[in-house]
Amino acid sequence: MTLERTFSIIKPDATRRNLTGQINARLESAGLRIVAQKRKYLSEKEAKAFYAVHQERPFFDDLVAFMTSGPVVLQVLEGTNAVLVNREVMGATNPADAAKGTIRQEFAESIEANSVHGSDSPENAAIEISYFFAGCEITE
Ligand code: ATP
Ligand code: MG
Repeated sequence: MTLERTFSIIKPDATRRNLTGQINARLESAGLRIVAQKRKYLSEKEAKAFYAVHQERPFFDDLVAFMTSGPVVLQVLEGTNAVLVNREVMGATNPADAAKGTIRQEFAESIEANSVHGSDSPENAAIEISYFFAGCEITE
């Protein structure tokens, strides 16, 4: 049992449909504590840097355009095994494959506009958190 932090984004398709509260309720019900949160537009530079791992993929330009198309909510989530727990609550990347009761199964519009991001490892969580949050912006 390790208390862990992960990084989460509520994506523009979800903020546009006013789903922030419903998504936060899912996260909290799963035992995740929102210890930092801010709503902002990602700049093109931030979106490209954030998804740099996908820069050779055919969907990269579309993904950057989508992620900058509206405000996002950036979050730090804390809890036991937070990285894994969040990935479970989110569901599979493609909502068609996402398990029943997951955020993506319920809310995602498409494989691209899939409502939420979650870090895929504790190492990437630490990198993503420090990219968007100063230590003094994160509380208990
Ligand atoms: P995320 O990193 O956003 O949490 P993920 O880890 O489930 O999602 P990745 O493979 O890292 O999935 O893809 C990053 C994001 O790129 C996806 O969440 C989705 O928005 C977009 N994406 C992934 N695959 C495709 C695709 N085939 N077509 C269009 N967009 C895609
Ligand atoms: Mg990913």
